[in-house]
Amino acid sequence: MKFLIAFGTRPEWIKLKPVMDMFKKNNLSFKTLFSGQHVDLLPSEVINSVNYKLKIVDGENRLDSIVGSVMNSSEIWDKDITHVMIQGDTTSAFAIALAAFHRKLKVVHLEAGLRTNNVWDPYPEEFNRQAIARLTDLHLCPTELSKQNLIKENVTGKIEVVGNTVLDNLKTLKTKFTNKVVVTMHRRENHHIIDEWFTEINKLALNNPQLEFIIPLHPNPNVQKYKHLLNNIKITEPMEYNEFISLLSKARLVITDSGGLQEETSFFGKKCIVCRKTTERCEGVGTFSFMCHEPKDLKSIFNQVNAKHVPIGTSPYGDGNAAKKIFDVIKNEI
Ligand code: UDP
Repeated sequence: MKFLIAFGTRPEWIKLKPVMDMFKKNNLSFKTLFSGQHVDLLPSEVINSVNYKLKIVDGENRLDSIVGSVMNSSEIWDKDITHVMIQGDTTSAFAIALAAFHRKLKVVHLEAGLRTNNVWDPYPEEFNRQAIARLTDLHLCPTELSKQNLIKENVTGKIEVVGNTVLDNLKTLKTKFTNKVVVTMHRRENHHIIDEWFTEINKLALNNPQLEFIIPLHPNPNVQKYKHLLNNIKITEPMEYNEFISLLSKARLVITDSGGLQEETSFFGKKCIVCRKTTERCEGVGTFSFMCHEPKDLKSIFNQVNAKHVPIGTSPYGDGNAAKKIFDVIKNEI
């Protein structure tokens, strides 16, 4: 058994890292592939240390380019590889899973079974998840709900509930509540209204001077072009992961459109406002996550959440020991 572990974006690397560390600790050898999707958000030492590095040859359509570049990279398919592990729902994860399927390799999907059941929201991620599930041999689900989503779709392959590996990274941090409100926003489905979100978030900061609003600004040009609307907010460069989770552990609450932050904030016992129409992380809605569908609703949702910012209960996304559970599942396979 020899794994190829593939990632192309910051969140994929963050969630695969605990698995790679666990494999190394237990001498399970693997090779790594960086698909080239996010060159500017991953530490350069991570990108430089992989076995295979792809470059996305950009064309008219970025999503086509990602799939095309992966499909045209036969050099990554080392003869020893038997299993390919991909994470989540990016277009590069889908393309790598498809290329593995074409070679009749076993596909292991980490963070399987998340669904909104609307292929246009989030686009293109919901399609990618559903398509990956069709060709996966081992589905590693974070929760029982994600397992049930796969059962409903009659997928083939083995399904295991292991928790979300992102939480494994957070176990050593202590939670504190300070006056910091952490904001992140970058998703494709928000690009056309980022200016409206930023205007509303900036107003919150102006009306709540006792709170310190901080946004590590995503490098995407569709986000950067509205930076000037955030004049009451502390803007930083995207933070290195350890610095960012340390900030999160001290936040009062979070405003975000990120998936991973919904999981991380719940582990720290924090609430987050989710600036999206849908979420595939339904388990925490109403306890840890509060949906805000439109920028115009942000003020009232913020006031409610801020007034009762301490949630009750433990994270529904796992206990921080997912990598160990994954290793045990894989050991059984061997
Ligand atoms: N993150 C980070 N630095 C930052 C902002 C976020 O390391 O400045 C981490 C965060 O802790 C989380 C991940 O990046 O684990 C979230 O990434 P993103 O929002 O891009 O993707 P999503 O979770 O929506 O897939």
